[in-house]
Amino acid sequence: MPELPDLEVIREFLAEHVVGHEIAGVEVVRPTVIRPLVNGDFAARLTGERVAAARRHGKFLLLDLDSGHYLVFNPMLAGRLQYCLPEAGRLPRTYLVLTLDDGHELRYSDQRSMGKIYLTDDLARVPGFSELGPDALDPALTLEVFRERLRRYRGEIKRVLTRQDFVAGVGNAYADEILWQAGLSPFRKRPQLTEEEEARLYEAMRHVLSEAITVLRQRVGADIHLEIRDFLRVHRRGGEPCPRCGTRISEITAQKRITSFCRQCQPGGLVEGT
Ligand SMILES: [Zn+2]
Repeated sequence: MPELPDLEVIREFLAEHVVGHEIAGVEVVRPTVIRPLVNGDFAARLTGERVAAARRHGKFLLLDLDSGHYLVFNPMLAGRLQYCLPEAGRLPRTYLVLTLDDGHELRYSDQRSMGKIYLTDDLARVPGFSELGPDALDPALTLEVFRERLRRYRGEIKRVLTRQDFVAGVGNAYADEILWQAGLSPFRKRPQLTEEEEARLYEAMRHVLSEAITVLRQRVGADIHLEIRDFLRVHRRGGEPCPRCGTRISEITAQKRITSFCRQCQPGGLVEGT
């Protein structure tokens, strides 16, 4: 699932290569993920639009269009953008192909068909968008604001961290990385965290996400359809030694979500109930 670092690097790429260009052609290959929230034909409305800006909030990517409309991508589990020339092979389950005025194509594919693409003049109408909390890297999200928001939730800390109405952008993979960095068990309940642990969580969130952006910026390049995760330290590394203490990394699957963590570095919360 694309998360904040993946999408931020894609946003940077789009800002450089797509912003300023006109959408010269629109091919709706399969309409099922497309949700026009404006009247008229989706392809006709989009054709001739110039892309004014590329933005991101949490796990949503937005292209601001000259008309004041927005093309909004919510990739969910497996949505991918691909930037290429027309002769490049299409990824399986390609849904939308935009041809830019310089001949490049921006394509959307989705192996799980769960993502959505919206065209709207009102972001409040995009499902899930107005409920988003502040972006996890928003400079206005200070430790004080983070603490204040954290107090609204009482569940396990990993579940809280992946709630997009708490802070937007962290999903299953980066939550594992952040909690490992902070030395906090994913299963600790939020009210059990001390002030010092809350601060550690905040610092780890900022550090892990920023560091991942730096790595991905180097490695993704124009291949924005690739999801690179091989540099993660604990997520999906069950059985391998913890990079900090050498203990075998534990892996638990609950509700189809894998949680990877180190019992030594991230104690408590599970069997002990503390
Ligand atoms: Zn460890």
